[in-house]
Amino acid sequence: MTRKTVKTYCRFCHAYCPMEATVENNKLIAIAPDTDNEVYGGYTCIKGRQLPEQMYYPQRILSSLKKNADGTRTAISSAQALDEIGDKLKAILKKHGPRSIASYNGTVSFQNSATHPVAKAWHVALDSPSYYTSITIDQPAKVGIGAARMGFWGGGSHTWRDSNVALILGNNTLVSHFSIPGGIPSFSPSNALREGKKRGMKIICVDPRRSEVASRSDLHLQIKPGQDAVLLAGLIHIILEENLHDAQFCAEHIQNLDTFKASLARFTPDYVARRTDLDKSDIIAAARMFAAGPRGTASTGTGPEMGPNPNLVQHLVQSINAICGRHYRAGERLPNAGVLSPLAPRQAQAISPQPEWLTGVRSRVSDDIGEVTVLTANGPIKEMPTAVCADEILMEGDGQIRALICIGGNPLLAWPGQQKAFKALQNLDLLVCVDYKLSASAELADYVIGAKLCLERDDLTVLTDIWYEQPYSHYAKAVVEAEGDVIEEWEVFWELGKRLGLELSINQQHPLDMRSKPSKFDLLKKMTTGSRVPIEEIYSREGGHVYDVPDVIIEPADPATRGHMDLFPAGLAAELENAARDADNSLQLKDDFPYLLISRRMKNNYNSTGPELSVLAARTTTNPAFINPEDLAQLNIADGEIIAISSARGSIPAVAQSSPDIKRGVVSMAHCWGAAPGGSTDKKVREIGANTNRLIDNLDHPEKYSGMARHSAIAVKVTKVG
Ligand code: SF4
Repeated sequence: MTRKTVKTYCRFCHAYCPMEATVENNKLIAIAPDTDNEVYGGYTCIKGRQLPEQMYYPQRILSSLKKNADGTRTAISSAQALDEIGDKLKAILKKHGPRSIASYNGTVSFQNSATHPVAKAWHVALDSPSYYTSITIDQPAKVGIGAARMGFWGGGSHTWRDSNVALILGNNTLVSHFSIPGGIPSFSPSNALREGKKRGMKIICVDPRRSEVASRSDLHLQIKPGQDAVLLAGLIHIILEENLHDAQFCAEHIQNLDTFKASLARFTPDYVARRTDLDKSDIIAAARMFAAGPRGTASTGTGPEMGPNPNLVQHLVQSINAICGRHYRAGERLPNAGVLSPLAPRQAQAISPQPEWLTGVRSRVSDDIGEVTVLTANGPIKEMPTAVCADEILMEGDGQIRALICIGGNPLLAWPGQQKAFKALQNLDLLVCVDYKLSASAELADYVIGAKLCLERDDLTVLTDIWYEQPYSHYAKAVVEAEGDVIEEWEVFWELGKRLGLELSINQQHPLDMRSKPSKFDLLKKMTTGSRVPIEEIYSREGGHVYDVPDVIIEPADPATRGHMDLFPAGLAAELENAARDADNSLQLKDDFPYLLISRRMKNNYNSTGPELSVLAARTTTNPAFINPEDLAQLNIADGEIIAISSARGSIPAVAQSSPDIKRGVVSMAHCWGAAPGGSTDKKVREIGANTNRLIDNLDHPEKYSGMARHSAIAVKVTKVG
């Protein structure tokens, strides 16, 4: 009997917590926090501690499955599945052209460090722009559109560890384990929050719920849902009126400040207090606290971006940081420039707006919506907007999507407008899902390919490389050899590329051998060519490590290339007008739909992954409708009772849960639960939850550029059932 304990890291979510895995005869028998790790300090969460059960989940897919004409499935080898899928793709390509072949790379796909570079290489070689990811479901403004419209700062923004203040809007990192740099670091977030408070950092939290972060903040603004843009406009108005901004920074690096200031004239403290349902004194206090800094960053989570006016919210968040000069200056040390990419010069200068990032391939739904350029560690990458993918499948004509390869995602539960998503997925000529379980989407698939789980494969912390606040990296080697016939997500693209006669090249610079499949190490080496720390060095070390790389000092601006951040880009006046109109009209409480439904995260699941595991299921098997107890009493609804949540678009059942931390008039529910619409699944709401995407149509409020749907601040009514 051989028994060993090895260091690795969890990839259940994107926090990548270091762990120690104990293996006996190729069986994972235990998982424990790696308490030696200098960045995480032994942090893990309940989900990650279920990796052994996930690996040996009795219903795990350990082969490939082919759907028969009668709806049953036959287990086949992955090689046979890929051969048959390859033949079908060739026929679709010949008949309908490359755009008709799409891939959707969901949340789990990001946790395999090689998926996206190979997926993108496959699309480039195929000449198909139909590359979709979960990024454009919940945060396209933050990762691309905001920077494209306003420009950004070449030296980067202040990070948590050297900030005096943080303004956090709709981001509950203690549960979601995600924040962009400047917010609470995703890596051991409770320790980071404690450390920040200990050194006197001020935290302002904006959330309709007294969330885990809000309850630890210095000032909690329990805002009315959907009013983030109005609040931000009001905070900026106060800062500019009281001359609390960094006038010298603005004079040197910002354009259109005066026009911007004039456009915010209506967002007075009285107006904003009325619209946001906040105390005027708290709004003024928040503006002054943030402006006092002197260092600190405003940041958002998916809350505001899934609500109304996400492009405007993002612009205003970037604006409040810019006018307060919350950026690293020449001579300052950048806490982390990443270790897995070549060192690029970091200069104290604005990078002007990049309007070309907004003008890629257009969606067939509207010319206003098209490719979103996402800023990644490997530079800008274009992807089509997932918010309208279902329309691209259903809309007949040139470019109609006929085949969808779905990697580590569950579009039936995740895409906005579930009725349409259901119809679209059924309308495809070919649906392939790569997953470890038969998800609601995989139930509809023509082929399901069993996927390796994280401890069965090598990975490198590429995704998080520039999110750390230190030059940290971790190469995890496979802990056990996978049982059955399961493969990695990137291998699906390589195998299909080979069958289609494609030549794949990472970042269009590093060709892959298409005769003999590269090893994961070789692939990761190509992906990190020129890295500041050679991948061999990271590979040779057991566990994660902060590397001793030379400090990156921000260089002075280059007069030949320095630009300006534009506070008043084209379209902003109309967006501000729209935000005021939204506040005045559509979001006012109405007689028919008097409550506002907001999105949230839950501790025991990661989107639709988790409820299948026993310890997590013991905590909950549903996504309750969290409602203030006073509202429940007024509605004569008991805690735990089944209720109906109805919008102008549809109705779902839910389990009422009394929750005093929720603002009155608000219903808070997690997304990605439930099953396909129709049938008898509604009766199983206590066992599988309900899908909030059934309460919206994706085109009710499509956001310019991204088509981003409104998933939060949805007008609903709450009624007793029976
Ligand atoms: S936060 Fe939890 S699920 Fe995410 S990586 Fe860490 S242990 Fe895993």
